[in-house]
Amino acid sequence: MKTSVRIRRELLEYLLELARDFYPNEFAGFLRERDGVFEEVLIAPAGHFGRNSAFFNTWMLPMDENIKGTVHSHPVPNARPSTADLQFFSKFGGVHIIIAYPFTEESIVAYGSDGGPVKVLIVD
Ligand SMILES: [Zn+2]
Repeated sequence: MKTSVRIRRELLEYLLELARDFYPNEFAGFLRERDGVFEEVLIAPAGHFGRNSAFFNTWMLPMDENIKGTVHSHPVPNARPSTADLQFFSKFGGVHIIIAYPFTEESIVAYGSDGGPVKVLIVD
């Protein structure tokens, strides 16, 4: 189980921007890793966004072996995973980032597939 994850600063800033753009809705995406660093986001299709929950389905996962995690925003100041989030995390494996309102660097929290905390390390 991973205890930390590395993410490129540019990507992190872009994710914060997406979270703000989609607010008050959630956005959801998949994270691609290169050499152990999250470098890219693939935004999930718009039909899968809701006001209350970003809707992930394992069967709609893109076939891409470099996808090692997911990201979604919470339009409330609470980055704790919901029951549905935890269910999804456990099916997917990898690392899962939640960005809570107000979408700043401090509102980013990562979780493992077991729902345990994962430290986010920003790579410049
Ligand atoms: Zn959630």
